[in-house]
Amino acid sequence: MKTDSGVQVSVLGLGAMGSALAGALVGAGHETTVWNRSPGKADDLVAQGARAAATAGDAVRSGRLVVVCLLDHGSVHEVLDPLAGELAGRTLVNVTTTTPDQSREMAAWAARAGVEYLDGGIMAVPQMIGRPGASILYSGSAEAFERYEPLLGVWGTGTYLGEDAGLASLYDLALLAGMYVMFAGFLHGAAMVAPTGATAGEFAAMAAPWLSSMTGAFEEFAAVVDGGDYTVEGQQSLVFSDLGDILAASSGQGISTEVVDMVQRLIRRQIDAGHGEEGFARIIESIRQPG
Ligand code: NDP
Repeated sequence: MKTDSGVQVSVLGLGAMGSALAGALVGAGHETTVWNRSPGKADDLVAQGARAAATAGDAVRSGRLVVVCLLDHGSVHEVLDPLAGELAGRTLVNVTTTTPDQSREMAAWAARAGVEYLDGGIMAVPQMIGRPGASILYSGSAEAFERYEPLLGVWGTGTYLGEDAGLASLYDLALLAGMYVMFAGFLHGAAMVAPTGATAGEFAAMAAPWLSSMTGAFEEFAAVVDGGDYTVEGQQSLVFSDLGDILAASSGQGISTEVVDMVQRLIRRQIDAGHGEEGFARIIESIRQPG
């Protein structure tokens, strides 16, 4: 990875993620100043070569580039609002998880304060930072992304999505939406087989390769959705996709049917509207138009 080790960077927030981000910067040779609200969290980073700032203001003054990785939108404002004057003329990279509207609000706040703003969505857990597979989404100032791309690359693959500061958050949350529904599906399956004496671990060993191979269907669904024609030949029809057997088997095992019911309702709305012979991808229309 190419890095610009000459950048003075400050990291505000040394929770699990902030510490991982700061550690990667120190490891790449950046002059890194760190700050955390509660004391003690900077010790390991200082031992690696970071400088600990006594106050958030001190940290902001030490960095041309200021990275904030705090709990949420409210904590970012709590820390940065009193420091707007100090931040003026610097670049702020906010990788705190926020909603798209909160990211846009922060970008507007930064613009008023004369601060260049880049929002980030981290698609990784702290242990992945600086390793292959870590991905971070960015939106906001294109100039900031281009200027600091080598430094940001220390954390993982950076993808710039556009000037609208809310885009990184939107894509982050869209990807997490897919993840959580998949996780719920896996756990539903584990609950189905549990009464037979199967452990969740045994089920995971079967589910992981199965679900991985099924992701191949995304591209096929995407082609149908983007083409706008759900009648394309060769698709599994909505009628064929009826989940009645899965629901009956789940009830038979004495477990909740909520996870599968949700998908069945999306299918049913399209069948009831007369689209039963069309492809499964059509359930996106149920999602686009809330029932
Ligand atoms: P932690 O709970 O480990 O750390 C939270 C950090 O926020 C701490 O440094 C805490 O300081 C600080 N903080 C909270 N409230 C305030 C406040 N009012 N004023 C000042 N500082 C405050 O969380 P993570 O490090 O795991 O997460 C940080 C951000 O990164 C979150 O937005 C999270 O969604 C995001 N993220 C995390 C991932 C993960 O896997 N951990 C993955 C992707 C994104 P103190 O030590 O004093 O409490």
